Amino acid sequence: MEIFHIGAECYPAAKVGGLADVVGALPKYQNTAETQVRVVIPCYDNSFRKENNFECVHWSTLQLGKFNFPFSVLKESTNKLGFELYLVEIPELFDRPNIYSYEDDIERFLSFQIATLDWIIGRGTVPDVIHCHDHHTGLIPFMMTYAFKYEKLRNTSTVITIHNGLYQGQFGFDKLHYLPQFDLVHVNVLEWGNCINSLAAGIKCADAITTVSPSYLNEINYSANGLESLFRMVRHKSKGILNGIDNQVWDPEKDPMLDLNYAIATQEKGKQENKEELCTLFNLDPTKPLFSFIGRLYDEKGADLLPQASKLALSENNEAINILVLGSGNSEIENQLTELSLDYKGSFNVFIGYDEALAHKIYAGSDFLLMPSRVEPCGLNQMYSMRYGTIPIVRRTGGLKDTVVDFGDDGNGICHDQASVEDICDAIKRAIKLYGDQSSINKIRIKGMSTDHSWERVCQEYIELYNLIITKRNEN
Ligand code: ADP
Repeated sequence: MEIFHIGAECYPAAKVGGLADVVGALPKYQNTAETQVRVVIPCYDNSFRKENNFECVHWSTLQLGKFNFPFSVLKESTNKLGFELYLVEIPELFDRPNIYSYEDDIERFLSFQIATLDWIIGRGTVPDVIHCHDHHTGLIPFMMTYAFKYEKLRNTSTVITIHNGLYQGQFGFDKLHYLPQFDLVHVNVLEWGNCINSLAAGIKCADAITTVSPSYLNEINYSANGLESLFRMVRHKSKGILNGIDNQVWDPEKDPMLDLNYAIATQEKGKQENKEELCTLFNLDPTKPLFSFIGRLYDEKGADLLPQASKLALSENNEAINILVLGSGNSEIENQLTELSLDYKGSFNVFIGYDEALAHKIYAGSDFLLMPSRVEPCGLNQMYSMRYGTIPIVRRTGGLKDTVVDFGDDGNGICHDQASVEDICDAIKRAIKLYGDQSSINKIRIKGMSTDHSWERVCQEYIELYNLIITKRNEN
């Protein structure tokens, strides 16, 4: 079976969040003698591009309406990620350092999708499955189904995985001419909410839809930024598959980003040493429990609650705790957190920015990881924290609900129901009490560190899904 994964991110080639971790790991574990897996992402102007070797396997010009863009497809020469990685280089649109947030993102990602399909149909063989990730690739199943020039791909099965349904890649019908020609009787397939909606088109046309956790699949039936009724309509071809984590990258015993490695047997000492190093770095007191947050600073993550919740938790508990935040995003939240670090020197600190190595050090050196998310399709941070013996404190939503059980129910973490300052502070109080009981802490840490969240277990579910949709197609 030949599978193409197509997305905007893939760790370590390009990462903003969990999408990259999944696209960088799932293919590695799927790649076997029977299953050849290739990954295609855009070529950004970043360190991965500069520091690795590539061979050009294809070059041509793509057409986007009346515009023409030269592009080439670069293959990473060594397959060091555990699969064949291809970067689609469209210099005029992607020769920039960031992945998203440019004014012409619609043109950028539509061109990427067209270039990718142009290249794939030009190869000798057609893949069995094209697996799309999020809205940046949502028009691929539509174009494969209806665009005249991609007729060769009509028999290829398609999957779209929804990592985050809040973002949908909408644009006006004034840009309809960007799409390769198709019979206009099908134009309504592109439409949702009076505009072209890339994610909705992908959902309508793909043979199967997956969400990154079973609970998120249920939640999007009533909360999906306008797509609720569509998700209900396609329930028959939808499946929630919980993400795994890459245990080779996230391994406290071997992690090269840690100065001090540790295993389950040495966790008590290992975590204390990592905590001391982290506290020295951020002027915090290693004798106090350390609560951390890692992630994008947006309301969906509950990050807007952090300044007030931190302030209250620090004052209610006479500053007997440390809080450390790593993230970037909403500038108002960034400013409030920075102010707090000045008001509560020695107990609160923040690093505004993105730092992969620091994230690893925080998972290792913290006692608790805060995740008060309003929306969390899967969430990887809670799984990383457990793997590193850090107890997650999560709001019961999406994938957090599927992976964390409260310690009061003999579980592996601390759970609360509301994304509110009160609930976060109550959870912190419970955590402080727990922190005073080292044997319970050790028990929960060991439970988390021993839990199997590996991709090996999960990737078989995808293979079964591919086989199912391939069989269905062959029957029709
Ligand atoms: P998201 O919704 O952002 O995709 P996930 O929990 O699925 O959330 O994945 C987040 C990933 O991004 C994790 O690997 C996490 O460690 C990483 N991450 C998020 N913010 C930062 C940051 N500021 N610095 C380093 N890593 C980060």
